[in-house]
Amino acid sequence: MFDKEALEVWADRMLLKHEVVDECEIHGVLTDNLDPGALEEAVEEARENPPEGLGGSDAAKAVQERLNEIGDECPGCVRNAES
Ligand SMILES: [Zn+2]
Repeated sequence: MFDKEALEVWADRMLLKHEVVDECEIHGVLTDNLDPGALEEAVEEARENPPEGLGGSDAAKAVQERLNEIGDECPGCVRNAES
């Protein structure tokens, strides 16, 4: 069984690598770039190069599920803009 936390870290790295998400420079929060083409690339690489101990389709699913948890705005920046 692949460790869930390690899998999330791996999925984040895959999303960042393909610029599916950006990392806020101030808060370190990941935000969705809303780029379906980039997501396709990230999912494709996950499928072809899954982490050790995980199947390709599970790795691809993990990347997609991880993106579902990522919003398109950094909550810290939204708060700053409001104050
Ligand atoms: Zn921010």
